[in-house]
Amino acid sequence: MRIDKYLANMNVGSRKEVHNLIKAKKVTINEKLVKQAKQQVTENDMVKVDNQTITYQQFHYFMLNKPTGVITATEDPQQKTVLDLIASKDRYPDLAPVGRLDKDTTGLLLITNDGQLNHNLLSPKKHVAKTYFVELDQEIANEVDSAFAKGVALADGTQVGSAQLIIDKSNKKQGLITIHEGKFHQIKRMFGLFDLGVVKLKRIKMGNLSLDENLPQGKYRELTEAEISALK
Ligand code: URA
Repeated sequence: MRIDKYLANMNVGSRKEVHNLIKAKKVTINEKLVKQAKQQVTENDMVKVDNQTITYQQFHYFMLNKPTGVITATEDPQQKTVLDLIASKDRYPDLAPVGRLDKDTTGLLLITNDGQLNHNLLSPKKHVAKTYFVELDQEIANEVDSAFAKGVALADGTQVGSAQLIIDKSNKKQGLITIHEGKFHQIKRMFGLFDLGVVKLKRIKMGNLSLDENLPQGKYRELTEAEISALK
């Protein structure tokens, strides 16, 4: 890979900023000064900028606070996708969302080029817990939480496993629900069995990863090392 691309991928700066660093004689590969931006580098080379070693990072992990109105896909000819919200998406060609949130669902969406982690988090065998804040169009009757805890059959006969529902005591139209699968429209279909319509759905947790409360809707940030390790 070209050294300018490599450094931009490692978030050292934009291509333009990287070119300026090269011109200023601040970049070395294996202790030799880099003279041209097109010089090739591999992940085994020792790259330094201003005498600081730049460690090669193969995988990138972004936490997005998904807004409504964008679809969970990598590309679409008509609609805006969650990847369109990631400014550096072209630097990491294999970026993909982990799982799917409906167009009108908000909240935590992990986006990564780590295919193995993506696969593990979605594997039906792993039962990774996903917690959502939910608001319904009517108050939730008390029997709904015990029915969800036992596991319900959806209208088409699909059986879903045990889910935990905590109804908000001061506003019974709201609650927190934790599911361990990711069936199509699962939460909406589960509440639909009790004639309850979902008016708001926001994912706040997936596995050990919680949505950063300081992240406004539509914004994203890279995960910290601790957050990445907690997911693995
Ligand atoms: N369940 C749903 O119905 N929709 C989502 O976006 C996620 C879970």
